[in-house]
Amino acid sequence: MTALTCAQARPLVQAYVDGELDTAASLALERHLARCEACRAEHGTLRRLRAAVGAGLTAEPAPAALRRAIGRRLRAERERARPWRLRTRALVAVPAAILVAAAALALAPIAYERLAPGGAEKIVYHVNETTDPATALRNIANHVQSAPGLKAVVVAHNNGIDFLLAGARDKDGEPFAVRVAALKSQGVDFRVCGNTLARREIDPRRVIPAAKLVPSGVAEIGRLQAKEGYAYMRL
Ligand SMILES: [Zn+2]
Repeated sequence: MTALTCAQARPLVQAYVDGELDTAASLALERHLARCEACRAEHGTLRRLRAAVGAGLTAEPAPAALRRAIGRRLRAERERARPWRLRTRALVAVPAAILVAAAALALAPIAYERLAPGGAEKIVYHVNETTDPATALRNIANHVQSAPGLKAVVVAHNNGIDFLLAGARDKDGEPFAVRVAALKSQGVDFRVCGNTLARREIDPRRVIPAAKLVPSGVAEIGRLQAKEGYAYMRL
């Protein structure tokens, strides 16, 4: 088997950590990790995340009423997302010839974008309990300003979600909600981990409306990287 490139290896790392790769793919990835420091670092991060979440999952289950409330909010988020899926289906109905032409046009820039060093157009920021949210929001604002068209998603879990709860303020007493709303208006998405709400017994109504709920913060980070080609940045 030929050696994996970084672009081929990266999407496999999450599945490898989750134990979902077959033997051949695992061996190929292990060979790549042995000689690539950057991918090894990524693997280390995801493995530590997995361990941290595993520890969180063994905590006591949330009360039934709270679990139901979180479930309702998650279903509402899915309902809201539905019109986009319908639009995607409509696109599938476009005649094949047009699609082939469009694909030929689209392929070159995508290939370039994937290979361009530092040319990440899509980024997922990971926010947890070790993150200073005021600094994180400032860094994100700078990044958005210096990279027009950047697609950015902030995924918060564990105690990292606190700045996305109603009434949260920084150490100078300034509300976080104002800065979150400003970034959201510039296309930055904020997603809060539902597992964290359940584990910490936080009512989902306390999450500010600008933020969306996802079932699992860690799974969302993995999904964005593996399925949607997002680059990962820990804040
Ligand atoms: Zn690599």
